Amino acid sequence: MILSFPNMGSNRIAFKTLFEQLDIKVVLPDPTNREAIKIGVKHSPEFVCFPFKATLGDFVSAIKKGADTLVMAVDCGPCRFGFYGAVQERLLHDMGYKDVNVIPLDQADLLEFKWVKTLQEVSGKRDLFAYSKFVKAVIFFLKKAKLLSDIQTAEGLFRAYERNQGDTTEVYKTVISKLDQANTLKELRSFKNLIKEDFNKIDIDRTRTPLRVAIFGEIHISLEPFVNVDIRRKLGEMGVEIHQNLSLWDWVSHKFHLNFHRKWLEHLSHPYVPMDIGGECQWVLGEYIDRAQTGFDASCHIYPFTCMPEVTARTIITNKLKKIYDLPIIFFSFDDQSGTEGMRTRLEAFYDLMDSRRKHKLGKEKILN
Ligand code: SF4
Repeated sequence: MILSFPNMGSNRIAFKTLFEQLDIKVVLPDPTNREAIKIGVKHSPEFVCFPFKATLGDFVSAIKKGADTLVMAVDCGPCRFGFYGAVQERLLHDMGYKDVNVIPLDQADLLEFKWVKTLQEVSGKRDLFAYSKFVKAVIFFLKKAKLLSDIQTAEGLFRAYERNQGDTTEVYKTVISKLDQANTLKELRSFKNLIKEDFNKIDIDRTRTPLRVAIFGEIHISLEPFVNVDIRRKLGEMGVEIHQNLSLWDWVSHKFHLNFHRKWLEHLSHPYVPMDIGGECQWVLGEYIDRAQTGFDASCHIYPFTCMPEVTARTIITNKLKKIYDLPIIFFSFDDQSGTEGMRTRLEAFYDLMDSRRKHKLGKEKILN
C-alpha cells in the first residue's frame, strides 16, 4: 500500500509524519499547481466547491506517483465537506483509477476517537503492542502541527519588518524543510528555539510601525498558498503584519475540545450564528468582532467561490457587523480563474485605504495640513 493525502500548504509534513511513524509508505502529491487544478476542474461537478476540485487534482498527482490509498478528512456536514471523500472516490474510479481507495478520516469530534480505527485500518496494526506506536505517531503529528502554527505566526510578523524583500520567505522555506526532517522527540522539543534563532537572523527594521491585518476564512483556502494566490506573502511584502489564528493546530486542538480561543469566538458570534453551520462561519464572525475590539487596522476574509457558510458570514459582516464595528474588511473569493494581477490592484487600493484611515485616526493629516 502506498498512501497519500491532499495538500494543505506546509501542513502536509505533519500528516506525512503521522503516517510514516506507523510504518506506512507515503508519497506526497506535487505541490498544488495549475495542472492539478485543471484536472480537478475538468472531472468535478461544475458547482462543487473549489477545494473539492483542487484536492481531486492533488489525488490524481499522487496516483501518478504510485499512491493507491488516499486519505480524505470528512466531517458530519452540514456543508458539502461531508461528501468529499465518497464522491471523489467515485470520480476517480470513473476516470479509470479503479483500484484506488479513498479512506475517510473522521474529524467531526476527535474525542470520539473514530480516527483511531482509520489509522488501524491503514496501518494494519490492531494488536496491543501497536498502541505505543499510535501514541508516538499522534504526538509527533500534534507537535509538528503546533510548530507549523508557530512558524506561520513568525512568518506573518517578520515579513513586515524585513529590509531585504524575500528574506522571510527564504527562512520560512528553510525552517519548514528542517521540520520535515526532524524525526526524533529530542529534535522536536528544541525546535521552537531553532525557529527563534533562524527568524532572528533576518535583517529587520525595528523602527517600522506596520499596519496590522487579520486574515480569516475557509480552512483549505487559508492554508494552501497556491489556491489563495499567496495572499499572505503579497500583503506581507507590502509591509503589513499578518495575524492569522487559523492553522492545522488551531483546528485539531478545537476538535479535541482544547481550543479556548475558539470558544471565545463562538461566544462573540453567538448572537448572529448560534451554531456551527459548516466551514468557518461561526469563527469568522467571532474573529471579525474580536479584531475590531482589539484595534486592528483591517481584516481580510478569504473563501472559495460558492462556499455557503463563508458567503453567509460575509453577508452578516456586510449587513450587520460593519454597522456596529469600525473595522475595514476586504473579501476575496477564489476559484480556478483567480489571478494575481486583479488581486494585487485590489490589495494596493486596500492598503492605501488602511493607511489613510490610520493617519486620520492618529490626527496626522490635521497636523501635516
Ligand atoms: S466549507 Fe465551503 S468550501 Fe468547504 S466544503 Fe463546505 S461549502 Fe464547500
